Amino acid sequence: MGRKYVLGIESTAHTFATAIVDDELNILSDVRDVVKPGETLGIDPKLTAEHHANVAPQVLKKALDDAGMDIIDIDAVAYSMGPGLGPALRIGATVARAIAYKFKKPLYPVHHGIGHIELTSSLLGFKDPLVVIVSGGHTSILSFSLGRWRTYGETLDITLGNLMDMFARKIGIPFPGGPKIEEIARKGRKYIEMPYGIKGNNMVYSGLLTYATQLIGKEPVENIAYSLQETAFTVLVEATERALTQVSKKEIGLTGGVASNDRLYNMMCDMASEHGVKVGRLEKKYNSDNGVQIAVVGILYMKSGYAPVPVEEAVIKQRIRVEEVEVPWR
Ligand code: AMP
Ligand code: MG
Repeated sequence: MGRKYVLGIESTAHTFATAIVDDELNILSDVRDVVKPGETLGIDPKLTAEHHANVAPQVLKKALDDAGMDIIDIDAVAYSMGPGLGPALRIGATVARAIAYKFKKPLYPVHHGIGHIELTSSLLGFKDPLVVIVSGGHTSILSFSLGRWRTYGETLDITLGNLMDMFARKIGIPFPGGPKIEEIARKGRKYIEMPYGIKGNNMVYSGLLTYATQLIGKEPVENIAYSLQETAFTVLVEATERALTQVSKKEIGLTGGVASNDRLYNMMCDMASEHGVKVGRLEKKYNSDNGVQIAVVGILYMKSGYAPVPVEEAVIKQRIRVEEVEVPWR
């Protein structure tokens, strides 16, 4: 039997991406096109969809060219079905359906968050991790149980990525603000007490955003950014620790755009080491949205013999939760 190949298509938010992955999870190509700041202030769903529609043909062609393949050599198509921005999701799903229909390829809708989880687990070699997803779209603590990924804790209002981006915008930094805030925070010298939002295993961040925003102009911005990060990250690390004591895992996989933050990573490592738990994260480029995470899940579906979805049933689900998705490969 020859190798099998899956084309993954990602379009939940700012990134339109395609990738080709084989059944041993070798990455043959990985092409992305991100909406640039200025093109949209923050993320405007309609302009983002327009961007995705414009770049889709060349992003797809480059993924095939880089892999040295023709579209007919692909064995299945996987696409992000959600959660995400409706208009943006619709572009990826439409491209996926068109290919599946025209070339008679099996089609797998993929939960975007499960893409982050499975890519992180497989590249790190983590078998049964507690997963912490911190991105623009998610802030959740998850673990696998009874056939599905389960949420142990999550933000009750805005995500950690939103918190960073919204604060950044208030001080004139365009999307994505997180990396700049990390830089500014490094120069902070004084910790300012800020609202500490934790409820059970859940995080609450909007009060913190309001508080930090009100300090702009009254305190050095370095100290605000530093205190904002320290507070927000401590909340997340404490919630993760609470979850860890309930599920007793040996590994934590940190993923999503905010996982690139070194301060957050180090704080998570400090907490985990007290419990004899290992923390892993991927190289930066795999924390951001990409087609590889979608293709990897497509491969997992295919290898487990899971039934593909007929083209007419291949929809998008803007608000789908991980618990709604059956995971046949674990
Ligand atoms: P994603 O939604 O997974 O593509 O991640 C994008 C989010 O990650 C945005 O909110 C960024 O501001 C945030 N982000 C990226 N790098 C960093 C960083 N070094 N520190 C904090 N946030 C970051
Ligand atoms: Mg994401």
